Amino acid sequence: MAVFNGENIRFSFSQLGSAFGKAVTPTPLENGRILTYDATLAEKLGLTDADIKSDTFRALLSAEQPLAGRTPFAMKYTGHQFGQYNPELGDGRGVLLGEWRDDTGTLWDWHLKGAGKTPYSRHGDGRAVLRSTLREYLASAAMRGLDIPTTQALAMATSDTPVMRERIETAATLLRITESHVRFGHFEYLFYSQQHDALHTLADYVIARHFPELADAEKPYAALLQEIVERTAEMIAKWQAVGFNHGVMNTDNMSILSQTFDYGPYAFLDDFNPSNICNHTDYTGRYAFNQQPAIGLWNLSALGYAFTPLLDSEVINDILGGYEQHLQVAYSKAMRDKLGLPDAQQGDSRLFNALFALLETNRADYTLFFRRLSEIESDLLVTAQTLSQFSELIADTDSLSEWLSEYHQRVHHLDSHARLQCMQATNPRFILRNYLAQQAIDAAEQGDMQPTHDLITVLSAPFDAHPSLAHLAQRPADEDKDLTLSCSS
Ligand code: AMP
Ligand code: MG
Repeated sequence: MAVFNGENIRFSFSQLGSAFGKAVTPTPLENGRILTYDATLAEKLGLTDADIKSDTFRALLSAEQPLAGRTPFAMKYTGHQFGQYNPELGDGRGVLLGEWRDDTGTLWDWHLKGAGKTPYSRHGDGRAVLRSTLREYLASAAMRGLDIPTTQALAMATSDTPVMRERIETAATLLRITESHVRFGHFEYLFYSQQHDALHTLADYVIARHFPELADAEKPYAALLQEIVERTAEMIAKWQAVGFNHGVMNTDNMSILSQTFDYGPYAFLDDFNPSNICNHTDYTGRYAFNQQPAIGLWNLSALGYAFTPLLDSEVINDILGGYEQHLQVAYSKAMRDKLGLPDAQQGDSRLFNALFALLETNRADYTLFFRRLSEIESDLLVTAQTLSQFSELIADTDSLSEWLSEYHQRVHHLDSHARLQCMQATNPRFILRNYLAQQAIDAAEQGDMQPTHDLITVLSAPFDAHPSLAHLAQRPADEDKDLTLSCSS
């Protein structure tokens, strides 16, 4: 199909040279076939239904054919995994197919995950299993629906290729789309391998392609680092406010555009447990939910260190010094929105902390609590009827009633309608709960994609009612709670 060979395809990253990765011929899937695709994203990229349903696209997705006849490129990066520097990383099972230019002129990386071995595969097989691929597909849609920066997923393929994990599973691919696949680890690699000319090239490339407005700054590299620090703080503030636990915040999983990147054993909290750990190989809780803000700074410091050939250390430290304040401001704003508070007032942090304590001691469902609170008129907050509406979420009615009175004090003079409107646009009804992802995976493995389609429907518009799919807002049964997931994918 002409569209996959046309004028609109570029290879600017692979043209940066051999310091940045290696050309790789992918290994095709056996009987690769498209499993599902994102029609919204396809449209945004200017692809028609016929393009997506073409055999050329199927072959592309099945690693049979490259984009525009060009051999794909495996990117080299390194990074800190669980605090330890690992020089051996890189695209071990994914390849950059090329960059797609949309009608507005924006370039989008097309990256095929699960396309077979590359020079960076180490002992891996270069494959991705259906289970983990579908989890990334669902999470990408969920984050977009919540307006949290994320990579996207255009389509998935399944196959007859078996792969060995804890059991034999099906190999799948995912076509990941984002403006940039550059990670903190790309900078770390060029720094630690002392390729400082290439480090300058990378910084210039990132500025020219992703932050052109910074090119004229007095110190463009300082402006770049500052931008990354601020955006990362904002992204993590959004994770904390919605209850998202990434699970593997290694520096090779941190995007230079501060998008949520590399979905592995992530979780959206069901019960509010601040020290939730969703990755069962995270023995020390390094990536626990409440550690994410601090780990964000740790990771940015690792990036800052890699910037030392580009900037004075003092400048770097100054920029890093702004992170906490930036995160705090973004987080407080996000939490105020969740409670429908238009401005900051003294005593707000006490109100927040009392609420967190209440939710934690009662193991209340984080999402359902806020959503229910978004539906109660201010006048009704301190009534027996309201208490009974929370009864299955919070057992300790005395503490709840005390908190609701404090909250009522804070909001009673505000316009109740405006408050509810703000809260209902901030507190989702639907999140990607692990038990729901698992149900979709179990069905997909049996060839039934309906649960996936239903989940995508609610996650794409998570604030809407979706009456026929209301059951997808339910919290899990006790036995389905706290699934911890391995990195095996
Ligand atoms: P991740 O845990 O997905 O962030 O991956 C960490 C590193 O391991 C990256 O360099 C991946 O490319 C590589 N990797 C993960 N799974 C595989 C696999 N099945 N085959 C080859 N490389 C892999
Ligand atoms: Mg990774």
